[in-house]
Amino acid sequence: MAKTLKGACLCGRVEYEVEDPEAMGFCHCTRCQRWTGSSLAGVVVDADHFRFTQGADLVKRYESEFAPRHFCSNCGSSLYDDLGGKYFVAAGLMRELDLQPSFHLQVAFKAPWETIGDDAQQFAEAATA
Ligand SMILES: [Zn+2]
Ligand SMILES: [Zn+2]
Repeated sequence: MAKTLKGACLCGRVEYEVEDPEAMGFCHCTRCQRWTGSSLAGVVVDADHFRFTQGADLVKRYESEFAPRHFCSNCGSSLYDDLGGKYFVAAGLMRELDLQPSFHLQVAFKAPWETIGDDAQQFAEAATA
């Protein structure tokens, strides 16, 4: 059974739907820290399973060195990180999300003040296997 999650940005003008979320976890890389202000809690979803239902014209893309970033140009909310084939969709925008974190990526780069408080698997850099 397909599970659909709805997300909305801070100003509410951008809305989207995600189908069949695969996993939820954190990326602690320095790019995500700069993009979000801390680590990025995200949901992995197939790019084909993400669609805007409102406000797509407000979405801007930042071409970062890895994984281009998409955000609301009106309120600045982080929307998703394009991993190529998969999207890493910011978890905090989906109020009905009921997955628990299952991974921490780029832990070698996490902020010194951040303490990981769950038992999810940790990877020094990208996930393997
Ligand atoms: Zn917005
Ligand atoms: Zn990251």
